[in-house]
Amino acid sequence: MRDTGQRNRKTTLDADKRRYTQIFKYFTSCLFCVHLWLIFIIFLSLSAGCAGVVPQPEKKPPPIPKVEEKKPPEEISKERKSEDYVVIIASPSNTYESLSEKYYGSKNLSYIISEFNQNQPITPNKEIIVPLKSLNPGGLYPEGYLTIPILCYHQFGKSKSKDKMVVSEEMFDKQMAYLKENNYNVITLREFFDFVSYKRRPPKNSIVITIDDGWKNAKVIAAPILKKYGFKATLFIYTDLIKPSKITLTWDDIKEMINEGVIDAQSHSRTHPDLTKTKDNESETAYNQRLEKEIGESQKIIEQRLGIKPTFLAYPFGTFNDASIEILKKYQYEGAFTVIKGGNPFFYNNFSLNRSMVFNSEKIEDFIKLLETFKKEQL
Ligand SMILES: [Zn+2]
Repeated sequence: MRDTGQRNRKTTLDADKRRYTQIFKYFTSCLFCVHLWLIFIIFLSLSAGCAGVVPQPEKKPPPIPKVEEKKPPEEISKERKSEDYVVIIASPSNTYESLSEKYYGSKNLSYIISEFNQNQPITPNKEIIVPLKSLNPGGLYPEGYLTIPILCYHQFGKSKSKDKMVVSEEMFDKQMAYLKENNYNVITLREFFDFVSYKRRPPKNSIVITIDDGWKNAKVIAAPILKKYGFKATLFIYTDLIKPSKITLTWDDIKEMINEGVIDAQSHSRTHPDLTKTKDNESETAYNQRLEKEIGESQKIIEQRLGIKPTFLAYPFGTFNDASIEILKKYQYEGAFTVIKGGNPFFYNNFSLNRSMVFNSEKIEDFIKLLETFKKEQL
């Protein structure tokens, strides 16, 4: 029994041994496999590392997974239209600018829609009315009418000057800051003229800036300040003044400012005479010929030099008569400006429009007095 027990035990031990041997073999074969895999991986890495040495065909970047394009929200969800108005239910993407672009072809006219809707912010599903015809182009209201002041500057100085025609850099900056802070809209002469021609009303609180003659400080002092506030001005030049010199503008200076979008150039005659005065013993014919020279030739020279035909003139010294208006019309000028203080309602004569001179003053109040943009009057 004892022998049988020992034999059985030995058999069990042998079986165990065989099992362990099999497990060991299996384990080592697995290890071998792992080694093979490691070697394979190292080989792959080395190949990749050498790829820079051996020129390879350029790999195309993997295609960007396509994200299904989200359609922008519908610009306008509902629209009702008549001959004079469009009524829309605003979508989230609508702004006064986007509606102005859509219905008028320009963002610059957004004030028309904004003012018509009481300047209320556009919110989704809000009803917005877009006028399709020029409404109230003359700016007439039951309590009064719009009037547009045109500021007239001449020269600018780095410091305070005794000359009343020279506004200091510091004061000009202060004046422009005042316009900005008090929401004045500096419009171009063309926009102003659309108003006095009864075509289109500009935004309320509109004002025009003009600079006369053609002095260098218009470029050196005024232009950077205008740019700083995003304003534009009209330069009325008398063409004989424009020449290479330290104190006057050159044609290149003017072109540079036009290209920067800070000015546009119009005529201020050729030699800056008082257009109403005849010379001693000057015949009527000779006087008219001289007027043609001042008005017609200055226009031609500006067109030749700048490529833009001026159609507005600032009378030298602000003086004018019937003869000068006649010549202006002959040369297709659209309007002309005096230096008579005050704003311009739409019904003023286009050949005797007001401009208010800005003199050298240390008081901002003197400047503010020139800024009346609405004339109260019960109509
Ligand atoms: Zn002048």
